[in-house]
Amino acid sequence: MTTFRGTIIPRADHPISRRNLSDNAVRALYRLRDNGFLAFAVGGCVRDLLLGREPKDFDLATNATPAQLKKLFRNCRLVGRRFRLAHLHYRDEIIEVATFRAAAVVGDEPELPSQGRSRGPSVVKDDGGMILRDNLFGTPEEDARRRDFTVNALCYNIADFSIIDYVGGLEDLRKGIIRTIGDPAVRFVEDPVRMLRAIRFAALLGFEIEAENWRSLVELSSHCANAAPPRLYEEMLKLLLSGEGERCYQLLRRSGVFAALFPAVNAWLETETDVFPHVRFGRALEVVDSRIAAGESFSPPLLLTLLFGEYLEELAATLRKGGGFSPQEALDAAVARFAEELAPTVLIPHKVALGMRGILSGQRRLFVTPGRRPLSFIIRPDFGEAFRYLHLTAESPEGKTLYAWWSHYLAANPLPPVTISPGASEAGSPEADLPKRKRRSRHRRRRSPVAEEAQP
Ligand code: ATP
Ligand code: MG
Repeated sequence: MTTFRGTIIPRADHPISRRNLSDNAVRALYRLRDNGFLAFAVGGCVRDLLLGREPKDFDLATNATPAQLKKLFRNCRLVGRRFRLAHLHYRDEIIEVATFRAAAVVGDEPELPSQGRSRGPSVVKDDGGMILRDNLFGTPEEDARRRDFTVNALCYNIADFSIIDYVGGLEDLRKGIIRTIGDPAVRFVEDPVRMLRAIRFAALLGFEIEAENWRSLVELSSHCANAAPPRLYEEMLKLLLSGEGERCYQLLRRSGVFAALFPAVNAWLETETDVFPHVRFGRALEVVDSRIAAGESFSPPLLLTLLFGEYLEELAATLRKGGGFSPQEALDAAVARFAEELAPTVLIPHKVALGMRGILSGQRRLFVTPGRRPLSFIIRPDFGEAFRYLHLTAESPEGKTLYAWWSHYLAANPLPPVTISPGASEAGSPEADLPKRKRRSRHRRRRSPVAEEAQP
């Protein structure tokens, strides 16, 4: 049997049982083991199981190479340009299996474990120390050490059901600490997205970011802007939709990461409107968090409009004052300018920006009752999100009256039954009767392709 250098916690001394893993994950682990490979469940799933939380997904690590995995599993697809990963496709789940990887010195000529051939420089960093490429196979310990935080580097070994801890993750888990593996300054510069991940895990798990880690995070916050803009967009959504968005937002602001990612919005947040500071962002996140806790979900356009709507409306008003814009043109220009402003840091997909524009222009129609041809408005596919936006933002008596008017109108004008996309509307509210564009069903994906590609 292979021996490991890390601390080994035997089955009798930890609470994780095979029953806590998904059946597919257990089957895949067994198949690897039965074919002579090392097979671990790793990362977030081990962390979450030890904390008594339900894992979002199951990641496996093994010494089988991608080619061997392809042979072993018929449902295997290899993905990733930078580092080949195997996705095992099951009916309702995708399990990611990665060959143990090492973070190595720039210019190393690594050998593949089983084939003994060179794969070229393994880790390529830019002049500032950011990892551009990293594709070296390694040992289980190296694999654990190249992970981001100690609490994310624990392994569950199917060979004897033990947990292996190479980096002190169990102690940090007990103490509730987020700590990078190795020097935080180096690890944050190597991959600035780790700063956002540190904030997300601290907020979500109710953990503290270790003191030196926090100092580095604050000092290096401006490096966040160096990560790939599509990846920052994906990561931002994960933070804001984590269910602890407000806590994430506070940490983002305090650390300076928010200012690095959203410089113009940050400057605006620090100004005041009629002597009141802008508090909409934080308030909107409180609402989003509480509704996520109640089981609702939010589309990216609705979430972003809830957060940035006030900023966009003020921008549109300024453009109108400058002259030459109709209200609709000013709104279109404001959304376009906002997306452009963000593009160097956080790349908002065009479709999402269009959705935001639809929600905001919908408000103009919602604010006129009965308005022109209200029936033609409520059957539009973007009505549902616009109406939900009105509901979530209507704090004034006027807003509440509007919401009530449209609710009655909807009740009096029932629409033919259509497919409703899950989570897009609130159960029990009038929006539940609204038409939604029929969506193609999708398999539950584990991670966005952007994040997959970008993860070093
Ligand atoms: P969750 O899936 O609940 O958001 P997670 O910890 O599983 O959390 P994933 O993004 O699924 O996060 O990543 C799986 C594992 O891959 C992590 O636990 C960590 O060990 C490693 N990892 C992810 N991103 C990075 C990164 N940027 N740098 C180093 N290791 C990373
Ligand atoms: Mg995960």
